[in-house]
Amino acid sequence: MSDVIKLLPDHIANQIAAGEVIQRPASVVKEMVENAIDAGASKVQVIIKDAGKTLIQIIDNGSGMTENDAVMSFERHATSKVRKAEDLFALTTKGFRGEALASIAAIAHVVLKTRKEEAETGISIEIEGSKIKKKEACVCPVGTSFEVKNLFYNVPARRNFLKSDNVEFNHIIDEFERIALAHPDITISLHHNDNEIYSLHSAILRKRIVDILGRNSNDKLVPIEESTDIVKITGYVGKPEFAKKTRGEQFLFVNDRFFKDSFFSHSLSKAFDGLIQPKMFPSFFLYLDIDPKKIDVNVHPTKTEIKFEEDKLIYSIILSSVRQALGKYNIAPTLDFNRETSFDIPYDMHSKPVVEPTIHVNKNYNPFQSSPAKTGNSFTAAIKAEGFGSNDASPKDWQSFYKVEEVEEAVPEVVELNLEIDNHLTKNFLIRGKYILTNCKSGILVIDCQRATERIVYDELINKFISNPISSQKLLFPLEREFSSNEKNEWINNQVMLERLGFLGEFQELNLSLSAIPAVLQEESIHDCINLILESIAYQEIGKGEIAHVIVQSIASATGKRKATIQNNESAEALVEQLFQCTEHSFTPRGKKIIQTLTIEEISLKF
Ligand code: ADP
Ligand code: MG
Repeated sequence: MSDVIKLLPDHIANQIAAGEVIQRPASVVKEMVENAIDAGASKVQVIIKDAGKTLIQIIDNGSGMTENDAVMSFERHATSKVRKAEDLFALTTKGFRGEALASIAAIAHVVLKTRKEEAETGISIEIEGSKIKKKEACVCPVGTSFEVKNLFYNVPARRNFLKSDNVEFNHIIDEFERIALAHPDITISLHHNDNEIYSLHSAILRKRIVDILGRNSNDKLVPIEESTDIVKITGYVGKPEFAKKTRGEQFLFVNDRFFKDSFFSHSLSKAFDGLIQPKMFPSFFLYLDIDPKKIDVNVHPTKTEIKFEEDKLIYSIILSSVRQALGKYNIAPTLDFNRETSFDIPYDMHSKPVVEPTIHVNKNYNPFQSSPAKTGNSFTAAIKAEGFGSNDASPKDWQSFYKVEEVEEAVPEVVELNLEIDNHLTKNFLIRGKYILTNCKSGILVIDCQRATERIVYDELINKFISNPISSQKLLFPLEREFSSNEKNEWINNQVMLERLGFLGEFQELNLSLSAIPAVLQEESIHDCINLILESIAYQEIGKGEIAHVIVQSIASATGKRKATIQNNESAEALVEQLFQCTEHSFTPRGKKIIQTLTIEEISLKF
């Protein structure tokens, strides 16, 4: 019997590979512009005819190639970017598979002209269906120009599969914008059928974004900046009122590479929770800088999906830094990490029916006079009363017209709870180490010490852990604790986070031996704390991104219980001060009320 297995000829293998890498003209644009950037170009021109079906030309002023490299570049697995296996784990270039040029040359007519700076002449190569048709010296500028003509000329199924010019060109614009946003320092232009679509000069990021979105977008952008030992995040988010009906303005980059990630996008949507309408999408341009060893760009042939080693932590960091930024620019009313919606609605009101607010209007209020109206409350009467409309108006009348601010007491009366502490009157009264009474403008505040502690510890830890692991204390004797197998699995699933938050330990079968715990936690509260953590991670549905705050919540809650007894007025005072430094001081992370107010009215009703 004769053998039947044969190796595929190169040009067929290349055609098959091309199916993966080159789906449409936009893929050629992406691969070629990325090559130009990898070659160190500071200027790249993209010239398109008929949505790329007739011509895609990319001209760059990068390193250029030698004659040999120019020929080699079309071979499959020919790359100058990866030499040994380890390089794959520390990629700093866009390309590394050595597949793009071989694929493109298999399914199009390609003309390459390239010259290195030190070479007197350049080299021109024409290639069709993977075969070199012509190779000669040529006169050309330093850098590289690729012309890709008649894409898919020999793969009719593919060519017929292409969509209308409009759709295909929109794909090209998408790729172009992604690269332009990833590299604001590069001057880059896009022409289509002799129309200039983009001509972007090297710029700082904010300017590049504005150049792409349009001039009036500058005011929409809120800067994001967060530097942690795991990831550095920079970029911008759009203010909530500019949210879009589509995901069109959502860009994530890691190490200057555009990528898609529904998990991280979810964290951004969450940061905008309550600030934008449902079914609207926030705009964002977020740049993650991360050690290349901690990501895997190798999971997808076109490399828009990327695996992250520490995805849960990064989720939390994004969420918190975006919320902080929105808060800093006074966009979100509060910054609570834990909050489902960012509006200041007390938790116990969520389930209550909405009641229309009532405004009490002082009917006798007259904006034009400081004493009660003498002549009724109609507008004309009020004007008359100040001398306007009468013949003998005097300067005095005009002066009083401008005195509006001085009549504050007469402004329509709006009932408002003022939680601000009245500094002149502050005197804290400690009741049995459990409650603190303190003066405020509208009456008396009653503060629950245990809950206040919980909030303070939570805020402190959640802010700290974002930038660094929180401090942990070694136990003199390891603490043993028996887990169920489900509990053990969940504990191990979240080990990275737990360690970052201070829990170090090892399992022997189902027995956890804890050698260190978060420094804030007292030994007596460890069991309490572990119970709380397990309750959430092993027995409740919680999103991956919620893990951090669930654990911190548990630590805070366990700490709160222990430290609850405040012994003297000094520590009471310190507690009140710390509490009011928290962005959310009315509710614990679990939504329990920390403060009750007794207003003067309520007190007077008791007498
Ligand atoms: P990869 O980018 O994965 O290395 P490609 O097939 O895209 O594979 O390119 C093959 C090689 O050709 C690159 O590694 C690079 O050495 C060279 N090359 C491609 N485009 C350019 C360019 N515009 N300027 C200089 N060299 C280039
Ligand atoms: Mg490449």
